[in-house]
Amino acid sequence: MRDAAQRMPRGRLRESPGWCAPPLTSATHGGILLGHGATKNPSDRTLKCDVLIVGAGFAGAVLAERIASQMGRRCTVVDRRDHIGGNAFDRYDGAGVLIHPCGPHYFHTNSDRIVEYLSQFTDWRPVEFRVLSYAGGRYWQFPINLNTFEQILGRPSTPGEMEATLARWRIPIENPKNSEEMILSQVGPRLYEMFFKKYTRKQWRRDPSELDPAVCGRIPVRTTRDDRYLSDRFQALPRDGYATMFRRMLDHPLIEVRTGVDFRDIRSAAKWNHLIYTGPIDEYYGHVFGPLPYRTLRFENETLAEEFHLPAMQVNYPGDEPFTRVVEIKRATGQKIPVTTIVREFPEDYGPGKEPYYPVPASDARAQYLRYADLAAREPGVSFVGRLAAYRYCNMDQVVGMALAEFDGLKERKPG
Ligand code: FAD
Ligand code: UDP
Repeated sequence: MRDAAQRMPRGRLRESPGWCAPPLTSATHGGILLGHGATKNPSDRTLKCDVLIVGAGFAGAVLAERIASQMGRRCTVVDRRDHIGGNAFDRYDGAGVLIHPCGPHYFHTNSDRIVEYLSQFTDWRPVEFRVLSYAGGRYWQFPINLNTFEQILGRPSTPGEMEATLARWRIPIENPKNSEEMILSQVGPRLYEMFFKKYTRKQWRRDPSELDPAVCGRIPVRTTRDDRYLSDRFQALPRDGYATMFRRMLDHPLIEVRTGVDFRDIRSAAKWNHLIYTGPIDEYYGHVFGPLPYRTLRFENETLAEEFHLPAMQVNYPGDEPFTRVVEIKRATGQKIPVTTIVREFPEDYGPGKEPYYPVPASDARAQYLRYADLAAREPGVSFVGRLAAYRYCNMDQVVGMALAEFDGLKERKPG
């Protein structure tokens, strides 16, 4: 890698659109993967298995691991993408930089049970995730904290002064009903306009007033100098990366993984005793109640012949730029290499051939989802688990928790 980097001229090295993970082979994945299923045997649609798991992300991998190791049942995991790990997957790019091709994945949780569970498959690299916001031509500490307040004042301040000032700026709204009300009730219109309004419109193509309060409410506001992006007790990355952690989870003699296989292509001919489905729930039901709304992202990667490029691991852009954030994940992974890769995220409308990265947390979408959920609740022999199947804007730890809870239920019921 060092040789490749030395051959590269200083400055901008290469721009590559989106992500282009090479197909995984059994050689790179410890023999657990059959490789690109469609390539291996394109006509093999007559899969027969005990437990069929659709999706090799957190939901599918946790359930495969639990069912194989604790129930001794044989699982076949299919994923239509060419890699395991779902959106949390990571890989080395052409310059040898470990990147998160589907957006930055900062692991954080308050659950000891979830840390203990995942620690069977990985050690951790503790990281405090720090972010800046670029607004009005300069960088601001973000999320809003005492340092941000001092930047706004242009002089030193105290938690007491910040609390008193926010009390004046805030709009008193007792039970915020949407994300606009949520932020106005915390910091008032000036900081709402500065950091939230346009960013949220870009990300969701909806006004914050049309989104659940929890969307912008995810972002903490602090009157202390705690400038971490997240507040959970445990904040870290898998020490050897997410892909390695997933590989270890799925490396079990009773688990077979087939990537490059779309459930829709095998559904009519395949046979299973129990199905675990972690894909989009509306797709499972043929969009019978109409397609649920999702947001997708386009990623633009840029590799530079510098050790680091950005002033922080993530810079948010709450202004008129067409992208929402730029991420230099190398600042979090701690990789020692003289080149770096930054990734810009451009929110886009979801459509055919795109990834449904975000369910839309809004009351109209929820009402539509509940119609699907009602069908799912009456569907025998199928577990719907994960961010897409439950149509919930979940973090990784929440999906692990959801999968472990589903496993507890399956153990009781002994399905199939
Ligand atoms: P997924 O990871 O989406 O996995 C589902 C899998 O099912 C996919 O691989 C898909 O290809 C497959 N699939 C779907 N349909 C089919 C089909 N018909 N046939 C075969 N396979 C199918 N969480 C955090 O905790 N911290 C973060 O910093 C963070 N950052 C994020 C950044 C972005 C840009 C995004 C989009 C999400 C982020 N998340 C983060 C959330 C995190 O990605 C999810 O909580 C978690 O990965 C969800 O796991 P899952 O298994 O439910 O879904
Ligand atoms: N948000 C914002 N400005 C920011 C960061 C976030 O308005 O600088 C809002 C936006 O609506 C975003 C939500 O807060 O979708 C949650 O942000 P987070 O960074 O947690 O988003 P994710 O990592 O899930 O994309």
